[in-house]
Amino acid sequence: MNIPSSPAVASQWLVVTDLDGTLLDHAYDFSAAAPLLRVLEEQGVPVVPCTSKTAEEVEQFQAAAGLSSPYIVENGGAIHFPHPEGWLLDMPHQPSPGGGVVVPLGWPSQRLRPLLDTLAAELDTRFFALEDLSLADLTAHTGLSPEGAALAARRHWSVPFVLAEGQAIEAVEALAAARGLKVLQGNRFAHLIAPGSDKGLALEALRRADPQRRTVLALGDSPNDQALLDGADQAIVIPGADGPHPRLRPAIAAGDYQLASAPHAVGWADAVTTWLALA
Ligand SMILES: [Mg+2]
Repeated sequence: MNIPSSPAVASQWLVVTDLDGTLLDHAYDFSAAAPLLRVLEEQGVPVVPCTSKTAEEVEQFQAAAGLSSPYIVENGGAIHFPHPEGWLLDMPHQPSPGGGVVVPLGWPSQRLRPLLDTLAAELDTRFFALEDLSLADLTAHTGLSPEGAALAARRHWSVPFVLAEGQAIEAVEALAAARGLKVLQGNRFAHLIAPGSDKGLALEALRRADPQRRTVLALGDSPNDQALLDGADQAIVIPGADGPHPRLRPAIAAGDYQLASAPHAVGWADAVTTWLALA
């Protein structure tokens, strides 16, 4: 692809990215994209994480990556603006404990948790909510350190859970939808969230807050990224070691999503460099 190299091209873009399985590999490593993240930060191109992670987890990532951009947490449950200057915040917002402000989009976890138990009872099954797992089970299931697992358990806008063995996610998604709720499948957990919140609706709110109305490049790897990818101007799917997620393959085949050249940070950096004409 022959695109002229120019920071002026890059400045027209807003990069919105999933973290786990997309920018981060399964060991939470993003080192192959670290130099590019520094360039984007220097050029003022926002790289907005849009993730199932909690605010505390994303704050750690932002510090490690050297990013000052807004971030979307808990599958679209809220948008944090650590540096709100330069953004149009005409939506209800409140001070964020981590600094800046937070725009709530979903329902608080305390409201969602009893609804998860109702869904399990109706399906005559058991769900294991992340908050009910012991720290040992949680570190074993996530590969996180005990400190990282503790941050991951501090949910405000979603209830992550694990299905009982043999339970099909499709039945859970369908019942949740019939009850006016939403269940999204991530890499390690399913997530119960409010019906009016997902990554795509969070992207819409982010666009409304962008006075420059920049073009959105979105990157994801899982079905829970589909609303984000569908809402973007350019959508990139990051494959795993076995190729793209099976549920994203039809949209790739249809040309709606581009497939990155490699898994995780390597494919991420390659795709962003190409589309932002930084090569
Ligand atoms: Mg992911």
